[in-house]
Amino acid sequence: MSLIVHKYGGTSVGTPEKIKNVARRVKKVKDQGDQVVVVVSAMGHTTDELIDLMNQVTDSPDPREYDMLVSTGEQVSAALLAMALQASGCPAISLTGGQAGVVTEDIYKKARIKEIKLDRIKEELKENKVVVITGFQGEDSKGDIITIGRGGSDTSAVAIAAALKADVCDIYTDVDGVYTTDPRIVPEARKLKYISYEEMLELASLGAQVLHPRSVECASIYNMIIHLRHSQKEVDGTFIMSPAQILKEVGKMEKQEAVRGIALDENIAKIGLLRVPDRPGIAARIFGALAKEKINVDMIIQSIHSSGQFADMAFTVDKPELKKALEVAEKIAAELKAEGVVHDRDVAKVSLVGIGMVSQPGTASKMFETLAEAKINIQLISTSEIKISCVVKAADGKKAVQLLHKAFNLDKIIQ
Ligand code: ADP
Ligand code: ASP
Ligand code: MG
Repeated sequence: MSLIVHKYGGTSVGTPEKIKNVARRVKKVKDQGDQVVVVVSAMGHTTDELIDLMNQVTDSPDPREYDMLVSTGEQVSAALLAMALQASGCPAISLTGGQAGVVTEDIYKKARIKEIKLDRIKEELKENKVVVITGFQGEDSKGDIITIGRGGSDTSAVAIAAALKADVCDIYTDVDGVYTTDPRIVPEARKLKYISYEEMLELASLGAQVLHPRSVECASIYNMIIHLRHSQKEVDGTFIMSPAQILKEVGKMEKQEAVRGIALDENIAKIGLLRVPDRPGIAARIFGALAKEKINVDMIIQSIHSSGQFADMAFTVDKPELKKALEVAEKIAAELKAEGVVHDRDVAKVSLVGIGMVSQPGTASKMFETLAEAKINIQLISTSEIKISCVVKAADGKKAVQLLHKAFNLDKIIQ
């Protein structure tokens, strides 16, 4: 008997008919004699709709009430799926994150999962039930409902699978695997049979929405293989696993192409502080103040002035954090007697990802040339051993991805 964890995303449980389809799929596994735990997201765009309702009521929502509100979406789909399973003669029970023993940090809106107390899940499994758990949420030390960040149901599923030492962790979604880039942007994108945790983590962190970054981080820590696949098809998707596991599967060292995938992040905004003093401690002061407000800063660039006394600083933040980040930046700019603060919401980040980049020089210059030929201006650049990111005008983002996908022959890579 195996222990199987399935996760179904918003589109896969978007209508009553789709929920019944999921129930059929789950029942089939259960009927083979396996134990099944299912983690679900909210139906369709429910979470966005709840946030929309919130915005009609207030400009500055209390984080605790935000979590109370947005966590309800998952409760609807979990209860409906449990009912659909029961209706088909399959014993099932739905549990909230808290009831399932998902314990989080005491931070509203983006807590990490600290631990999963498995007693209740195990009890229900022993009673031969399919256990349906709400993704995206847990409970803090006060017993408050906490959410773990947008897209977080993937992380709920992997954390639960890891804690249960499950044999299989299938993540069902509306594409049939991880592609070289978002197939909605590049229809010629190729499905990858395998991708390493490291590359997937980078792609996900850089905006490829297909998996929540922390789900990949969690899977790599516990060496849990993720099988990302289509909820309406019976075909294999993409296996996200360690390089050693991939090697075992393919039976030979993989050809290391420099670039494995391209990610586009349209959810960023740029902030600039003009003419700040160029002396030790200034960056620490600016980014220390942002960190204190728990604002994640991504790319940072400091440019020099010919006088040597001043510098301009630019950085990116996630769009939803722009308002808070601007307040902090303006306060610090005034204290430092900087010339001013500018910002731009109309930017996007395009990133190339691949472990093979380390050993193949020329990737960055090819990226810059490709963008230059199309007259796409690069505003910020950042690099690491396995990625190169460029911030460009939002309107150029998709075109940049299409051109780079072609330039690096990603449609032609054979695994
Ligand atoms: P779910 O609701 O199942 O969690 P998401 O909408 O969060 O699904 O993620 C699936 C979407 O991710 C796909 O529809 C696809 O457009 C997008 N996506 C972005 N990058 C990639 C990629 N490299 N490979 C596959 N899908 C991607
Ligand atoms: N429903 C949540 C969201 O839309 C979590 C998820 O779908 O993973 O962000
Ligand atoms: Mg998702």
